Amino acid sequence: MKTYPLYLNGGWVRTPAANPVINPATGKPFARVSTVDRARVRQAVEDAQAAFRAWRQVTGKARGEFLSKIAWQLERRCDEVARMITLENGKPLAQGQAEVGMSIDHLRWFAEEARRAYGRIIPNQVDGKRHLVVKTPMGVAGAISPWNFPLVLGVRKVAPALAAGCTVILKPARQTPLSSVLFAECVDAAKLPKGAFQLVAGSASEIGQELLENPLCRKISFTGSTETGQLLIRGAASGVKPLSLELGGQAPVLVFKDADLEKAVEGAMIAKFRNTGQSCIAANRIYVERPIYRKFLERFVAKAKALNVGDGLEPEVQIGPLIDKNALDKASEHVEDAVRKGARLLCGGKPLPRRKGFFFEPTVLADVPAQGLCMREETFAPIAPVCAFDKEEEAIERANASNYGLSAYAFTNDLRRAFRLMENLEAGMIGINDGVPTTSQCPFGGVKQSGWGRELATEGMDAFLDTKHISLGIG
Ligand code: ADP
Repeated sequence: MKTYPLYLNGGWVRTPAANPVINPATGKPFARVSTVDRARVRQAVEDAQAAFRAWRQVTGKARGEFLSKIAWQLERRCDEVARMITLENGKPLAQGQAEVGMSIDHLRWFAEEARRAYGRIIPNQVDGKRHLVVKTPMGVAGAISPWNFPLVLGVRKVAPALAAGCTVILKPARQTPLSSVLFAECVDAAKLPKGAFQLVAGSASEIGQELLENPLCRKISFTGSTETGQLLIRGAASGVKPLSLELGGQAPVLVFKDADLEKAVEGAMIAKFRNTGQSCIAANRIYVERPIYRKFLERFVAKAKALNVGDGLEPEVQIGPLIDKNALDKASEHVEDAVRKGARLLCGGKPLPRRKGFFFEPTVLADVPAQGLCMREETFAPIAPVCAFDKEEEAIERANASNYGLSAYAFTNDLRRAFRLMENLEAGMIGINDGVPTTSQCPFGGVKQSGWGRELATEGMDAFLDTKHISLGIG
């Protein structure tokens, strides 16, 4: 079985200690990834600091050109990288390809943005002074990414960090490190100065601890669970380390009777079932206005039943496996809990029989009570709880009754209602008649316990820049 190396200070490092990587479609390991201990991570931070001295001096335009070269390398190897994403994560190959496509777009967008770390000049209040605001790169950044979008969520941190003039150490999730190794190969081929980008793997808590406690690491950008986010917040307290946190979600979908029903069904399907429901912006609960409830359910269930479940490498597959056995158990628990509390199971509801991997049937539950686990917790599975509502205010109140606030979706053709929804829904991203809101040039992140800060867009690069006020006496 092949052991993949890590990328440290411009070189490839293979270690005897290595973690297995499991294909969730078979439940079997297919490769291994090298791992490093905390001392080696400390060395990586020091090397990144050494690299930072030169990298920050490189012009934004030239840094952007490096990012464009990485994008080009990734494009050249799109199929291979997509296949690796499918092998380690399980998602259908077409979705792996889409993930590589979005990663390339992020790189290209931040390649341009690198030249736009604008400051400003502020008019003086007293004679003899001038005020400038300048933006400078923070320094070494740590990037911690999850397994559900193993490539793009790493790139979403690495690209703006490098564009800003920071150097960056990426730690992918234990389950899905290999697409990041291929990404590191692209960085290497683009001839980025050594130490500007490094890839580590190993014990998450040890690596996290080093990034938190080492004062040379000036910033951590993290995507993952709210629980781990809370751990990082606690760990960041003593060093007052700046964090960007993109945490859990529990997205509501509101479907109003004035919506285009076909589009609403289609939008809810993609918001729910993309990535087999394992997305932080996945639709977790669907509320439908009562007059169209039955019609919506009929069409939605028909489409859910027609979804093609299987190994993501097989053609035409739309739903892959869940990431592991725990995810499968949690999915079963959410369905059993909902049914016990009075929900009607309309299709699916259990792990797929006679499959070795971690497959769960696309599931639709109707009339799910608010106390159901799937109405309160992040389900991360192809399970769609649907229920009816009568009034817009009630729908908004139920949508907002969550500690999370990452994304929300609404389907309506009433413009006034659309404005009320965008003002009143408590979410960082709101898709109105749109089930796939994410795009490189728009801010991505949540409110409430869904996190701190924003990725992508100008905000995404600002997260790696210090803002300095220069007061200049010229009298
Ligand atoms: P999930 O529940 O989706 O696996 P996690 O929050 O556990 O989400 O994982 C997201 C990322 O955070 C992964 O790269 C994981 O290895 C990392 N991680 C987990 N625990 C810690 C920790 N204590 N410190 C730093 N990173 C961690």
